[in-house]
Amino acid sequence: MNEYDSNRIYDLAKQIDYKKTDNHKEADCYVINTCHIREKATEKVYHDVGRIKKVFRNKKKPIVVIVGCVAQAEGEILLKEEKYIDVILGPQSYHQFNESILRIEKKSKKINYTDFEVVEKFDTLNLIKNSSSKVSSFLTIQEGCDKFCKFCVVPYTRGSEFSRSTSELLNEAKDLESNRAKEITLLGQNVNAYNHNGEKLSDLIINISKLSGIKRIRYTTSHPIDFTDDLIKAHSSCHKLMPLIHLPVQSGSNKILKSMNRKHTVEDYLELINKLKKANPLIKFSSDFIIGYPGETDYDFDLTLKLLREVEFINSYSFVFSARPGTPAAKFKKIEASVAKYRLMQFQRIAEDIKLKYKKSLINKNTTVLFENKMKNKKDEYFGRDEFSNPIIVRAKHNLEGKIRKIKIISGNQNTLFGEIIEQDETQEFAA
Ligand code: SAM
Ligand code: SF4
Repeated sequence: MNEYDSNRIYDLAKQIDYKKTDNHKEADCYVINTCHIREKATEKVYHDVGRIKKVFRNKKKPIVVIVGCVAQAEGEILLKEEKYIDVILGPQSYHQFNESILRIEKKSKKINYTDFEVVEKFDTLNLIKNSSSKVSSFLTIQEGCDKFCKFCVVPYTRGSEFSRSTSELLNEAKDLESNRAKEITLLGQNVNAYNHNGEKLSDLIINISKLSGIKRIRYTTSHPIDFTDDLIKAHSSCHKLMPLIHLPVQSGSNKILKSMNRKHTVEDYLELINKLKKANPLIKFSSDFIIGYPGETDYDFDLTLKLLREVEFINSYSFVFSARPGTPAAKFKKIEASVAKYRLMQFQRIAEDIKLKYKKSLINKNTTVLFENKMKNKKDEYFGRDEFSNPIIVRAKHNLEGKIRKIKIISGNQNTLFGEIIEQDETQEFAA
């Protein structure tokens, strides 16, 4: 979502004649977009500002803007502690970017905008074309969260759940299509909580799938408790909807899930997975896990490993619990850091084994790849992803950017697969 936000901030900045520079040492303005989800986020901001200060020691000071969730959560402290910062803009206030820059240019005092003005933000952005010109583009459809998992800062930094209107989203999707996008990933902190006047995520997917230039649709991140039957059905009826679902579970222990306020059990989660597989047997899953949450015993951790093995997630993103200021879990008694670290290592070893076994199973198989770009510094090599988002590199004489091709995978490791084209013509997806 920060990538989407950064692009949109740039779309705004172009209106007041600011352009990206390849030489950051000559920039007039620095924008640092931040994430507050785990620790060290604030330290990173001070570190980055320190680096800018060093570059401009004997030069005219550039305007320094901090945006995103660290700005939201720590804005006042940042302005107090680091005089080099000029502007603080929370994630729901960045439509005020241009006004802030123009005021600072006129030597205004420091600016701190952190109100939750999500409606005004999108009203402003809707007037400006999304200029992202990637084959695979992001589209934020929903922001914020009302779930209040006890470990998470999102409800405090992004505010409550808000869904953009279907008509503005269709317009933006058409802009992306006309900019050469072939794939759109719909984004939201709780993307499947999307609901605008009764229009749900599945309705939006079906509407976007009618755009002939858009060949693939993905969405992330979905929450297990918001997975409604219409969305499950869309996975069997909409062939443009890709069969990889990122479905964070966080833990395999019901006791820990309850203490996290996740509002689902392991059994609910497995039942949902079964329903989705029934709707489309090709579907695979990736997930997020928090390891070493307060109160996690060896037994709880073993249950998480059991779930990991049972579902065989093709990608597992795991993090040691990080106490976030202001969240209820920050006050819980932490487990020993060395224990949490050791468990994370164990978890990641098993997750990597599962991933490697999966990737190896793909060798000598055919798959369908949407090519996104030519590899930098590599002649005739193109990077793309298959329906399960597996990164694949292929050698080709013709430009493959934006093309979908059937390929055979010939080798690979846990990260990247290498293949050769077996059909030169545009290939139909066979996802559902
Ligand atoms: N809304 C999504 C959901 O509930 O499934 C998750 C969004 S959150 C921005 C991304 C991931 O960061 C979470 O799934 C969780 O695993 C991780 N995360 C969030 N807060 C964390 C914390 N305090 N410590 C460690 N990991 C955390
Ligand atoms: Fe954070 Fe996701 Fe829980 Fe919302 S549902 S509080 S975004 S982890």
